[in-house]
Amino acid sequence: MNILLLGSGGREHALAWKMRVSPLLDQLFIAPGNAGTSLLGQNLDIAVDDFEEIRKAVIEFHIDMVVVGPEVPLVKGISDFFLNDPQLSGVPVIGPTSRGAMLEGSKEYAKQFMLAHHIPTARYLAVTLDTIDEGERFLKKLKPPYVLKADGLAAGKGVIIVENIEDALSQLRIMLSGKFGKASETVLIEEFLSGIELSVFAITDGHSYLLLPEAKDYKRIGEGDTGLNTGGMGAISPVPFADEAFMKKVEERIIHPTIEGLKEEGILYKGFIFFGLINVNGDPYVIEYNVRLGDPEAEVVLPRLKNDLVEIFKAVTEGNLKEIVSEQDPRTAATVMLVSGGYPGNYEKGKNIFRLDHVEGSIVFHAGTTISDGVVTSGGRVLAITSLGESIDEALEKSYKNAKIINFENKYYRKDIGFDLK
Ligand code: ATP
Repeated sequence: MNILLLGSGGREHALAWKMRVSPLLDQLFIAPGNAGTSLLGQNLDIAVDDFEEIRKAVIEFHIDMVVVGPEVPLVKGISDFFLNDPQLSGVPVIGPTSRGAMLEGSKEYAKQFMLAHHIPTARYLAVTLDTIDEGERFLKKLKPPYVLKADGLAAGKGVIIVENIEDALSQLRIMLSGKFGKASETVLIEEFLSGIELSVFAITDGHSYLLLPEAKDYKRIGEGDTGLNTGGMGAISPVPFADEAFMKKVEERIIHPTIEGLKEEGILYKGFIFFGLINVNGDPYVIEYNVRLGDPEAEVVLPRLKNDLVEIFKAVTEGNLKEIVSEQDPRTAATVMLVSGGYPGNYEKGKNIFRLDHVEGSIVFHAGTTISDGVVTSGGRVLAITSLGESIDEALEKSYKNAKIINFENKYYRKDIGFDLK
């Protein structure tokens, strides 16, 4: 089978790495990919949302399946594009249609979906400039801290949490007046939930689902979860508090009703679902849905998945997923992200990366890298170093050893990934 994978981050390198070992895979193409994926298949210089160029590549390279890494092409309707094109309609896409992708593309839609299907989540009110008075009244009734969310996609930056009511009222007006462009024409005001977060992943064929390993990620740039939000600085899987009793609640109260809800709404959903959850005194609540794997969570989830990923994808497209049993490596996976100094603010690119060939005992997934007289940096998040161990300590020790060995100018990484779980 020839597969085209869309995306260019560490998540896509991990997907490519996992698919490459499948006997079902013949040729692998990655659009646009990075230096890491170029070692596992052929990179194509096509943007993930350039549907016309993707169409041409699918025909030229006799692609049998498309796997979508990031959310943007899904929200823009790549699955619908394939279904509606007579030449592409036989080529399955791993990823939901645009209606399903609205679970991530519109936070208001996701909330309405959860309410309709009795899925636990924080209380909220959605407001626009026309209804700002109602929003202000709702805010005044809530206790601090206050959570404000842009409805649409805002590259992970659309959530603002403030401590006092004056800031909340002024931020609400600023957001509705175009702080995040169209994405914040509608703003959600949410009740603040206090607890520990984790990410749970499933893949569905539209009928049943397969649970994948869960993970915890570390979003802030600074140690002790301080400073600006990033795409993610590291991740750990499994999550110790996600024991059998907790996961049973997650499946019964959240995953099962979500899959059933999609069916009831007539939404064609064949792909990953990422449940961003919070554990509030032992009870799970949904913070957000994403319609793809997380990054860097994929870099710990996929190394712990023992199943053949291409076989899973094939079962998803054929609607046979219930015949597959999830097999997970019981060891702990830890990933530490090496980033360019200055990220998530301004940073320089084009720095040579040294000693990649000295790495032992870890898997290095490339994120922002490219080849130009050797491997050089090309983004904020550069490399994810994943290791497996019998304990969190053992996995982290290996990742941190290799994080020291690999070098590029202005390299930065957090030294406290997973410390809160030990
Ligand atoms: P991501 O980059 O994770 O996709 P996002 O912009 O889609 O983020 P959310 O995941 O909804 O936004 O929120 C970002 C973060 O804000 C959450 O991970 C959580 O830490 C915090 N948060 C969001 N909603 C709440 C809430 N109701 N109570 C407490 N914290 C919250």
